[in-house]
Amino acid sequence: MIILVINSGSSSIKYQLFNMEEEIVVAKGGIQRIGIANSFLEHETHEGKETRIDQDIPDHAAGIRLMMDVLLDEEYGVINDIDEIDAVGHRVLHGGEKFTESIIIDEEVVKTIEEYCDLGPLHNPHNLTGIRVCKKLMPDKPQVAVFDTSFHTTMPEKAYLYALPYEYYEKYKVKRYGFHGTSHRYVSRRCAQLMNRPYEELKIISCHLGNGASIAAVANGKCVDTSMGLTPLEGLVMGTRCGDIDPAIIKFIMEKEGLTIEEMDKIMNKKSGLLGISGISNDSRDVSEAAKNGNYRAKLALELFDYRIVKYIGAYMAAMGGVDAIVFTAGIGENQFETRANIIEQLGFLGIKLDPEANKVRGEEKEISTADSTVKVFVIPTNEELMIARDTLALI
Ligand code: AMP
Repeated sequence: MIILVINSGSSSIKYQLFNMEEEIVVAKGGIQRIGIANSFLEHETHEGKETRIDQDIPDHAAGIRLMMDVLLDEEYGVINDIDEIDAVGHRVLHGGEKFTESIIIDEEVVKTIEEYCDLGPLHNPHNLTGIRVCKKLMPDKPQVAVFDTSFHTTMPEKAYLYALPYEYYEKYKVKRYGFHGTSHRYVSRRCAQLMNRPYEELKIISCHLGNGASIAAVANGKCVDTSMGLTPLEGLVMGTRCGDIDPAIIKFIMEKEGLTIEEMDKIMNKKSGLLGISGISNDSRDVSEAAKNGNYRAKLALELFDYRIVKYIGAYMAAMGGVDAIVFTAGIGENQFETRANIIEQLGFLGIKLDPEANKVRGEEKEISTADSTVKVFVIPTNEELMIARDTLALI
């Protein structure tokens, strides 16, 4: 069974082609700068053959056609006919309240994803473009939508409602949706496997720490709370997003600086977080480097980043009445061992302890807590694409 996984963004498309018999990625790649100058495709096969094609890619349709050409290419290709692809799995950002699970895409599903474009304006329209282009190229092949929000639809009302007038929930469905759900689902399930215990019996806190960052509390196999909200802006300090702030700050700064709501929105989404505090970069590697060289604001940015995570872990332990395991994943969670060490050190009063040797790991699955730690701590590289491929296979 061959499954194509597509993650279609505003100017990019990422793809992976899976052979599901062995769960092997036979080829993967990405198309960047769609519709802008210097667009290109990068492609790599399981055997390690790599190619890069620099050419004008005016839109997503052209991008997906180019991807197909490469998948069928004599030298770099991995299939002989487009018909060998059995199904396509699409990452879709916002599934609103309706999509509690992944689903086979039909006209009705497309219409509902369209309706949720106002909740996910930066992603859903592009996810839909990917779906439409694939449908045109492979009209007879099933397509599946896997939503970032689905995993969080199990949250209880007390966790997802904001204390605003209830009518905004009734009229506009203003609530906490949460994101990175496919990643939280993958790593929390994998954590249970590594612990050799039933997923349904565990309390897990999953920390997805990348350029976008969120935490999820998973109790008895269900998400019970998560840090992102109606949009991905809420919660942790991120690369360029501020996360939690006093909402009254928005009016205060807008008045002081004479900003429009769009300008303020951009400041909170694109100019805050690690970048905003450090003034150096949104990339934690640059910020760490500067902090090591004595830059005060870079050090402060990292302190804020870690402190917010410590607070959320404490809050989610209280929410679940304890925790069995904490998982770190995504770019920072998988690679920045200083961040992990600093966070767990602040939780030392609970008897949670890291093994400094084990914690040196980068990008590999590993238990990094000591044998006598009260809570197990793991690094588990996320694999959203595999999760999408598995869901697609299960549904078809
Ligand atoms: P993501 O959004 O998951 O791709 O994560 C991006 C973040 O992970 C950036 O802040 C990077 O600095 C960080 N990151 C990615 N790879 C590494 C690495 N090998 N070492 C340290 N940080 C990394």
